Amino acid sequence: MKRGKEEEKMKTNHESIAIVGGGISGLATAFYIKQYKPETKITLFEKESELGGKMKTIKRDGFLIEEGSNGFLSNKPDTLELVKLSGCEDILLKSSDEARKRFIYDKKLEVLPESPKAFLTTPLLSLKGKIRVLYEPFAPIKRDNKDESLQEFGYRRVGKEMTDVFLDAMVAGIYASTPASISAPAAFPLVVKLEKEYGSLFKGMIKKRKKEAGPGGVLMSFKGGVSTFIKKLSQNIDIDIIKDIDIKTLQKDEKGFILQNENLKMRFDKVILSTPAYESAKILKDLMPKLSNELADIEYSPISIVGVGYDTLSHPLKGFGLLATTRAKKSVLGVLWDSSIFTDRAKEDKKLLRAMIGGQRDPKLALQDNETLINSALKGIKDTMGIDKKPDTIYVKKHDKGIPNYRVGHIKRVENIMNMVDKIEGLYLNSNAYKGIGLNDCVSNSKLCAKEVVGA
Ligand SMILES: Cc1cc2nc3c(=O)[nH]c(=O)nc-3n(C[C@H](O)[C@H](O)[C@H](O)COP(=O)(O)OP(=O)(O)OC[C@H]3O[C@@H](n4cnc5c(N)ncnc54)[C@H](O)[C@@H]3O)c2cc1C
Repeated sequence: MKRGKEEEKMKTNHESIAIVGGGISGLATAFYIKQYKPETKITLFEKESELGGKMKTIKRDGFLIEEGSNGFLSNKPDTLELVKLSGCEDILLKSSDEARKRFIYDKKLEVLPESPKAFLTTPLLSLKGKIRVLYEPFAPIKRDNKDESLQEFGYRRVGKEMTDVFLDAMVAGIYASTPASISAPAAFPLVVKLEKEYGSLFKGMIKKRKKEAGPGGVLMSFKGGVSTFIKKLSQNIDIDIIKDIDIKTLQKDEKGFILQNENLKMRFDKVILSTPAYESAKILKDLMPKLSNELADIEYSPISIVGVGYDTLSHPLKGFGLLATTRAKKSVLGVLWDSSIFTDRAKEDKKLLRAMIGGQRDPKLALQDNETLINSALKGIKDTMGIDKKPDTIYVKKHDKGIPNYRVGHIKRVENIMNMVDKIEGLYLNSNAYKGIGLNDCVSNSKLCAKEVVGA
């Protein structure tokens, strides 16, 4: 009896931590806190009935349709490490070799050049455009630390044509953004660092490749889609998970934090907000109005995903998919050939495509009704790939606030935000809103956050 009481006391003496948000950032933070300090008591609150946030898989008519992220690259260690440590290695799924080939639609569908020789012969750039790219090592170096857009950075280093074709397509594919509306150092810190460290992107890439000499990354995902990972990961972390709870406010007094909504009031020693910035802004409105304003200022790009399934399709879909340039004026940002990338996404001979619509390029289109989105997807598929067949399955997912858009000034804003947060002991912010949107970034930032929380 006495022993029982002592144990109970010990239990209550352990730090209690609340994590708000059950996306990959919240779950990975919980996982690493438990790794570093297993005795910590964690309660994770999730607004929706399912965990995962932007990582969700829908099963429909024999198709596995991803609402958001598809996978992660293996050349950064973070997600792979989490997968292994959390006992999820058995569900890892490597993308098929066929999916190494990527396409860009500018004037027509062309293979993305992956070697210097392919670059010299690609019709995607004119001779003048190619010569300008080759001039990159001699382009003047930016000496100041002022932020600049990806467009300014690209025009300076590799010229207008390369920026308007390659960087434009790439930033639409990763951030659903445009070169003019995103900060180069915030969105592509490693590329910008090459200029700073080596004076040239080419020189930097060559030197780094020699130093690192490792194989390039392979796209990885999970058998049964990303939701299988989220489910298994959450089952393998010893924490309390409370779903269907929309946390509304956070208060603080001398005894700690109080999380609250109309049905719940709970006290914790520490709180981690792993919510999108606009949600964190709402939760912190009363406690820290200035911080809340800064958070609310982080812009999000709307993006819609239309899953298009065919029971039969003659197109071989040999590749990863395509990204369209802005100047191509197509109704899609790109089309991913999901059943070719991960073979379990469609049963037997079925084929699955996912069209991405809207982003910063056309934010209004992303939020149109389903019929308009479906028509845009089918028109985009027809215009870029020549497929004019009525699909057998259609699924639409609208992300009103899909991906944080790291505008010029983002790094300074995040610095300000983190300085304000640091003033409140026991409060932490960790989600894709601040220092990287890729799954690898989210996991590595979650690990850092967990270390900070437990003082590891
Ligand atoms: C269409 C799309 C495609 C993508 N593709 C890729 C890809 O292929 N590869 C890649 O690496 N990345 C990709 N990404 C990016 C990546 O998926 C995200 O950056 C990442 O999943 C974000 O995780 P997060 O936990 O930070 O935020 P979220 O996933 O947004 O999670 C936040 C969670 O907080 C919950 N929440 C919000 N408010 C509250 C509240 N008040 N109370 C309680 N809970 C709350 C939400 O419901 C949500 O579950 C993609 C993103 C999108 C939108």
